[in-house]
Amino acid sequence: MEIVVIIALVLGILLLNRPVTLLFQRLYTKHQYKRFIAAETFYHSIISRHLKYYNRLGLEEQRKFLFRTYQFQHSKNFHYIEVEQTAEMPILVSAVAVQLTFGLEKFRLNYFDDIFILRDDYHYGFYSRPFMGHVDQSGIYLSWDNFVKGMSGQTPNCNVGLHEMGHALAYVNFVTQTEEDKHFKKEFHNFSKVARPIFTAMQSGAKNLLGDYAATNYHEFWAVAVELFFENTVQFRHELPELYEAMSRVLNQDPLSFISGNTTIIRRLEPAPPRKVAAQ
Ligand SMILES: [Zn+2]
Repeated sequence: MEIVVIIALVLGILLLNRPVTLLFQRLYTKHQYKRFIAAETFYHSIISRHLKYYNRLGLEEQRKFLFRTYQFQHSKNFHYIEVEQTAEMPILVSAVAVQLTFGLEKFRLNYFDDIFILRDDYHYGFYSRPFMGHVDQSGIYLSWDNFVKGMSGQTPNCNVGLHEMGHALAYVNFVTQTEEDKHFKKEFHNFSKVARPIFTAMQSGAKNLLGDYAATNYHEFWAVAVELFFENTVQFRHELPELYEAMSRVLNQDPLSFISGNTTIIRRLEPAPPRKVAAQ
């Protein structure tokens, strides 16, 4: 008899585990949304001042963007190294992560609990050249002056925030596999069918818009492609149309569609979010 009870209990736990987790997640999201509403104007004022991408979105998408930014920020610990902390720093860093994953379902880059903001270029490990940012198992590292320059378009083709978030997105999907986005993983395979031959040709000396650094290894190729996809969109599509299309598919968004005046940037239809919670 006892064994029957134990089996029934184990089965019950296994069967109820997912619905209970989902219920808690939904309640937590509702709770976060209430808090977010009180802060929405503040987030809008900061992000709209700095992020062109955000200003091109429609109103509904802007709200979804702000709420995701709020959720991303509140899922991280931010650390400030030799730089004076301001309220806009964690918001803008979170916003750039949200920009990259805006077409995807999963956006928290959840393996990374810690984000380190440094003042400017820094030295790391045994490397002789200074770093603008990097990602390793301890967190995401960004130098604030380079981050701002990239975000404001002062350094053409270079956006260290998007670059490092690109690494982090690949990391959570393929290395730690802690936040796998079904669409991203499936399409990355198709992306590589187009990207690998271009990368291989670059390693043999072929030149293109992505530049020599993208030929360092396939990780850098991906992160540089992410930067140019958003920062030099028109030229990217003109010079590397197949790669552009593959990027657009894997990230499930097309920055050119809103540059041309169409504010709907998400490529596929997503299920409607719950009524009271705008989106996650
Ligand atoms: Zn890199």
